Order: sequence, then structure tokens, then C-alpha cells
Amino acid sequence: MRRLLPVLLLLSLAITGLVVAWPKLQVVAALWRLSRMPAPSSLPVPVEGVRARDIADTWGGPRSGGRRHQGTDIFAPRGTAVRSATAGVIARQGDFGIGGRHVWVIGPGGERHYYAHLDDWAPDLRPWQVVRPGDLLGFVGNTGNARGTPPHLHYGIYAGDGAINPYPRLHDAKSAH
Ligand SMILES: [Zn+2]
Repeated sequence: MRRLLPVLLLLSLAITGLVVAWPKLQVVAALWRLSRMPAPSSLPVPVEGVRARDIADTWGGPRSGGRRHQGTDIFAPRGTAVRSATAGVIARQGDFGIGGRHVWVIGPGGERHYYAHLDDWAPDLRPWQVVRPGDLLGFVGNTGNARGTPPHLHYGIYAGDGAINPYPRLHDAKSAH
């Protein structure tokens, strides 16, 4: 029994360590899986109830300060659900700058998905959360520099070499949600 005690102690320490580290290991595993997946060529419209044909391609349109529009604006009533277009990991949530309330999702193939001007985030959303396609991220609003404009989601996709136009990839979401 005396010889067994250190072994049991080590074993219980190892188990405790594994339990504590488990959520982090799952995030690392998810990031690894995502990095190995191809970037999707087709994406569901991330705003509930909006059809792809009702969205305008506003890529490259002039914006304040000589900027060009680097995303797709998807208009919907305030509070409409915004759902992740891809599997991913929540990288960052913030409430500042031109995007206002926004969330970054690390998606497949090293692409980062940017959801901005949210009225609010999903109640339980937190950084490093693993999400599936269709998971609730937040709600359409007009925070940031969209204040005073009709509520819409600014949806952006960024790869290693900069912004990509999401518009050609968008198709109607299945009404599973
Ligand atoms: Zn926009």
C-alpha cells in the first residue's frame, strides 16, 4: 500500500491535469483540423432568412477616408440572427472601431471570417469557442461606423494575402435553423 500511494498520487495529478487542459486541447485540435481543411468555395448566407439573390455585390465600393469596401453588406431587420457560415473557432470579440460590435472566426483553410456591426453577440459566445456551421454568433445591428444606416451585417473574409470578396461564394442557407 505504501508503494502504491505515490503511484495513485501521480495518477490523480495526471488525470486532474488532463481534465484542466482538456478544453484547450480541444481548441488546438479544432484549429489543426480547420487548417487542414480546404477553404470553402461555397458558403451559406450568414444572416437568417436572407436569400443570396437579395444581396448586392458592394465589393470595392468607395468608403470614407479613401477606403474601399472589403466585404459584403447583408441587410436585415435589427436583431435578425447571424450564424457562422463555416466551422471555426471564435478568435476575437470586440466593440470598437468601424466594425462596432464584431467577431472574428478562424475558419477552414486559414481564412478568417469577420462579422461586424452586430447589435449584440450570442449570449454565451466567448473567445476560443469551437463553432459549427449555423451556430448563432449574434444579431444584426448598425454599430460602429454603420450607425445611422439601416441595420446590416458586414461580412468579410480574409486570407493570408488580404481580403477576399465573399459575395460570389454565397448561396441560400438551408432552413435547418
Ligand atoms: Zn460593409
